[in-house]
Amino acid sequence: MMDCLFCKIIAGEIPSTKVYENDKVYAFRDINPEAPVHVLIVPKEHIASANELTAENAGVIADVFLAAKEIAAREGIAEGGYRIVNNCGADGGQTVGHLHFHMLGGRSLAWPPG
Ligand code: AMP
Ligand code: ZN
Repeated sequence: MMDCLFCKIIAGEIPSTKVYENDKVYAFRDINPEAPVHVLIVPKEHIASANELTAENAGVIADVFLAAKEIAAREGIAEGGYRIVNNCGADGGQTVGHLHFHMLGGRSLAWPPG
């Protein structure tokens, strides 16, 4: 995807602060953190949103959540807890059109969201 911000970050064309990478997943610190730990966990495959998941590509969800567990341990938030959020589409608050999950932790998080 030529014009996708997160594809460019994954390719190293735009800098990011990497916290985790394997063959399926890339994770980096959000540029505008909403919590002491705010990591974006992104499948390397370009999928526009959660609404574009199919039986063929949905394996990336398991890859993302297994990466999240490892990142939580590395970031020291596994015990305290954390939240994983996916914003889907305009009303969901999605601003980057490449499927990604926010991992938020390091403080007590309010519920429900706004
Ligand atoms: P969303 O609104 O769910 O699509 O989330 C997009 C997230 O990407 C926001 O939290 C932004 O702060 C974050 N973001 C945008 N550009 C960058 C960047 N260059 N590096 C890291 N995070 C970014
Ligand atoms: Zn992309």
